[in-house]
Amino acid sequence: MQYTEIMVRYGELSTKGKNKRNFIDSLGRNVRKALHDFPKLETHANRDRLHIMLNGEDADKVMARLKLVFGIQNFSPSIRVEPDMDAVYETAIAMIKAQFKPGMTFKVYTRRSDHQFVYDTNQLNQMVGGQIFDNVEGIKVQMKNPDVVLRVEVRTNGIFLSSETIQGAGGLPVGTAGKGMLMLSGGIDSPVAGYLGMKRGVNMEMVHFFSPPYTSEQALAKAKQLASTLASYSGSVKFIQIPFTEIQEEIKEKVPEGYLMTVQRRLMMRLMDAITRERHGKAIFNGESLGQVASQTMDSMIAINDVTTLPVLRPVISMDKTEIIKVAEDIDTYNLSIMPFEDCCTIFAPPAPKTHPRLDRSQAYEERIDVEGLMARALAGVEISEIKPGENYMNQQEDVFAELL
Ligand code: ATP
Ligand code: MG
Repeated sequence: MQYTEIMVRYGELSTKGKNKRNFIDSLGRNVRKALHDFPKLETHANRDRLHIMLNGEDADKVMARLKLVFGIQNFSPSIRVEPDMDAVYETAIAMIKAQFKPGMTFKVYTRRSDHQFVYDTNQLNQMVGGQIFDNVEGIKVQMKNPDVVLRVEVRTNGIFLSSETIQGAGGLPVGTAGKGMLMLSGGIDSPVAGYLGMKRGVNMEMVHFFSPPYTSEQALAKAKQLASTLASYSGSVKFIQIPFTEIQEEIKEKVPEGYLMTVQRRLMMRLMDAITRERHGKAIFNGESLGQVASQTMDSMIAINDVTTLPVLRPVISMDKTEIIKVAEDIDTYNLSIMPFEDCCTIFAPPAPKTHPRLDRSQAYEERIDVEGLMARALAGVEISEIKPGENYMNQQEDVFAELL
């Protein structure tokens, strides 16, 4: 079918009262950003719908992008015709025929915002339904749960027909919740946490700690590649890399083994706090799931959260590993995440970290290191880059990856 527009229905944001305009404007901006390389498109974000005029652009390609935009409940590819009943009939019949399967049931559902139009919604339902029934052999009318609903919208700028409703990504438009900072490792959990935060409207910046020479260039490239996958949901993301080698070496030297992990995490959290405030973020996100590993107990959280008053949000806190993996597969991060590269946390991980570290001891052991000096040097070494969807950071390592896959 030669579609002329995509009609987009808003999700939850339609209930957001006073903020509604704000949400709609954000969604409009995000949709334009997601579709920036389709120059002929025109988008109009109205109170109850967003309309994308295709002007000859490929509907399937546009829809594939729309599926990744948060704040969209669903959308329908539509065809605009002049306000002339013969044109309506012809298009309606062609649309139904294109989808017809033996035994198929249908109904017509009309909405009318142009109240000057000669027929009302009941008349239009009957007239269009009658034409389809007479011209598509074997089709049946069914009011309750038909296979196909042919939607007819009579607007002042034409009559729009559609027969398909495609599920959108749901959630809230990215940006409407403000800025958050994701602790992005190369693992399975943190990209999922990032995705879930973005889905609730967070403009997410990605923070990655790396420890050369203990962690390799590939490990860094992998984190960037994950960021690029997540960038599909927002158009682009900031990637902030923080050197962590000196801190880890000093902790390794001065802190007893059982508290290595906790003190390392406290330092990570201190740096997260500093960078989040500097960049006007409102919260820190991570991929912790309760009880998954030693550092993810509530006692650990007490000992680690102690260094910040910012909210530390953990979108996957109550998810099982299998549930997290399911989402990772859906969002295309899983295959990347399972590539075996060392993470800075695991290389210095003691064989038996404390599962229930004590806050007072964590604080006391941390005093053995030069927190301020170490933090200042790590922050001085921060590098920030812009990452876009579809970029390839691992091409230099192609051979290595080809072997692993
Ligand atoms: P993930 O699969 O996300 O790596 P994990 O189950 O392996 O999680 P940990 O390695 O203990 O758990 O890390 C817990 C959380 O700490 C991660 O989800 C991530 O948010 C953060 N984190 C760990 N390593 C890094 C890193 N190198 N850079 C940034 N954040 C990190
Ligand atoms: Mg990890």
